[in-house]
Amino acid sequence: MAVQHRRKKKQAVPTAMLIALAVALVALGTAIALLVHMTKNSTPARRGTMSADIAEQTQQTTTQTEVTATSTTLSESGTTSATDVTTTGSALTSTTGTAESKLPAGLVSGITLTFYTANLTVGDAPVMPIVTMTPANATNKKEIWQSSNQAVAKVDGLGNITPVGAGECIITVTSASNPSVSAEVKVSVKGKETASGTPGGTTPQNTDSKIQVINGVTYVQGILIVNKTYPLPADYNPGLDPTAQAAFNEMAAGAAAAGLSIQIVSGFRSYDTQKTLYNNYCNRDGKAEADRFSARPGHSEHQSGLAMDINYAGSSFDNTPEAKWLAENCWKYGFIIRYPKDKESITGYKYESWHVRYLGKEWAEKIYNSGLTLEEYFGIDSKYSY
Ligand SMILES: [Zn+2]
Repeated sequence: MAVQHRRKKKQAVPTAMLIALAVALVALGTAIALLVHMTKNSTPARRGTMSADIAEQTQQTTTQTEVTATSTTLSESGTTSATDVTTTGSALTSTTGTAESKLPAGLVSGITLTFYTANLTVGDAPVMPIVTMTPANATNKKEIWQSSNQAVAKVDGLGNITPVGAGECIITVTSASNPSVSAEVKVSVKGKETASGTPGGTTPQNTDSKIQVINGVTYVQGILIVNKTYPLPADYNPGLDPTAQAAFNEMAAGAAAAGLSIQIVSGFRSYDTQKTLYNNYCNRDGKAEADRFSARPGHSEHQSGLAMDINYAGSSFDNTPEAKWLAENCWKYGFIIRYPKDKESITGYKYESWHVRYLGKEWAEKIYNSGLTLEEYFGIDSKYSY
């Protein structure tokens, strides 16, 4: 306030304004330092989600606890494949001294890593940069790890980075106690070599050649795939697909002709909406149970704009005439029941009589007639890797 007052009084004198500005800069030293830090260490997309990331700390902490049991194995595999990792020095060291001096005692003020770039190939073992958080006597050195694109590389709560698809992404480690402090690993992933280019390599699965990742979105034979193995980018935000909506309208007319009423109770859901939903289910039922019926953010088929919940998203829909009609007829309109009975080990989800996925009439008919799930039909997995 004092600064603004002074500025008004002397506004005709440019030099005085500069002095006032300098005073403001000093007063806002911490904020400036943070901005500089974020500019250096964050992509614009990352910065946009920073507050959401902070909100997610509780959940991340849970994840860390769960992966602790596998830490030894993962750390070892990370070390053995260290030849793939290029070290580029400490170009991305965190946080300036200004911010450090203003932090309460015990908070982390800087993060350094043993490497900041990693050039990997799909199929490589995970790599893990060793994290040093300063000061050494900081009381909470918990790490939050995130990938800017999980279709390119995934990261677990310990920092094990697993390449999954060709492309580039940023892996960020943030201090849980001080979310303004972070460091990044620029990850570049090459696709798997073809059989002829891999002497002595294992026989590639037929499906590998069918899987395409375009801008972080996975397609198999042109069909968009989202499940526990194949996520969507956080910023993939298409809304409900108009073709799927039109197909639903046609289906609703078909149901009406049979004397039944169907409506969409949940169509498109954004990454952030799914994050809230999933976290609520985790709090209510625990993570293991929540994973049986609710997708982690980025993994929901609803984020594709091609999935819909019909009438009521719960088991009391199961035995209704509408559920029976939907199961028998939805393929005619281009939909499949995406999570059929007794296929949880394959699809990753419990039976959902109400959840349909739009594929177009041709594919829906093929898959309906095969009696297979989407995963079985295309020979793909649906399993979380973290
Ligand atoms: Zn659903």
